[in-house]
Amino acid sequence: SAEPKYLTGNGQGIKEFIDKFDTFLFDCDGVLWSGDHVYEGVPETLELLRSKGKRTVFVTNNSTKSRQDYVKKLANMGIECTPDDVFGSSYSASIYISRILKLPEGKNKVFAIGEAGMEQELASEGVPFIGGTDPAMRRDVTPEDFAGLADGSLLDPEVGVVLCGLDFHINYLKLIHGLHYLRKGALFLATNLDSTLPMHKDLFLGAGSIVIPLTNAIGREPLALGKPSQAMMDAVEGKFQLDRARTCMVGDRLNTDIKFGVEGKLGGTLHVLTGVNSKEDWQKKDAIAVPSFYADKLSDLRDCA
Ligand code: PLP
Ligand code: CA
Repeated sequence: SAEPKYLTGNGQGIKEFIDKFDTFLFDCDGVLWSGDHVYEGVPETLELLRSKGKRTVFVTNNSTKSRQDYVKKLANMGIECTPDDVFGSSYSASIYISRILKLPEGKNKVFAIGEAGMEQELASEGVPFIGGTDPAMRRDVTPEDFAGLADGSLLDPEVGVVLCGLDFHINYLKLIHGLHYLRKGALFLATNLDSTLPMHKDLFLGAGSIVIPLTNAIGREPLALGKPSQAMMDAVEGKFQLDRARTCMVGDRLNTDIKFGVEGKLGGTLHVLTGVNSKEDWQKKDAIAVPSFYADKLSDLRDCA
């Protein structure tokens, strides 16, 4: 594909770039901030885009936080928004379950492996669930558990989906429940497949690593609802009535953000060099995805007079 266009900090080509789009989808960590530190000029850049009538949507793979949690996080960074400006992977999964799967009554419960943010999003879409942060699931396995799971007496017959996200309290008990529901035919969903967490130098396991024991035991892959899954793009499109040709995805990672935008046939993708990947990563012959634009940092878009 064509060489990405460089949006330089001296304003060249930036007005033309902004004029091409009505909606900007933003990845968060590595684009707007790093950990708890907001990048200089980012709130002003977002304000500027909004003052030009652009819609700004924050799209994150973080399954542990609800949209409401992200509104607070963004506010702490000096970025004002509402839950409707946020699209997270637990929300994406909840919409998929409630509006696309439309499971029959009596088979519509979710066995949730995840944190409170996932529960909040399932509840926001009216999806019944068990598991999640239930303290009863945070204990060692007993012989009674093995017996009750084997004969099915400990299984809720209404569970039709196993949804796995990042769970900081993952344990053997939750995993064997998940496996038994899958064996009984439950649909297998994952919020996202990030192997590690981007902050703290990728040293911690992401949702994609939490789901591996289930994938391995059941011998099939989950459908993932986070970037770069096009199931998430379809959900974003449905919610915001996106004109894909007039939408740009902004991100720091090629294998999630840029791939998400390229495969979604968006009008553009902007790679900012303030996060995980560098330009050498798409200059390689076997690059996983190549953006249509790149910039050193998001705040370079301010020079658009
Ligand atoms: N999952 C978790 C738990 C995270 O904390 C993060 C980033 O903070 C991510 C996934 C990746 O999120 P994003 O798509 O915003 O880079
Ligand atoms: Ca990121």
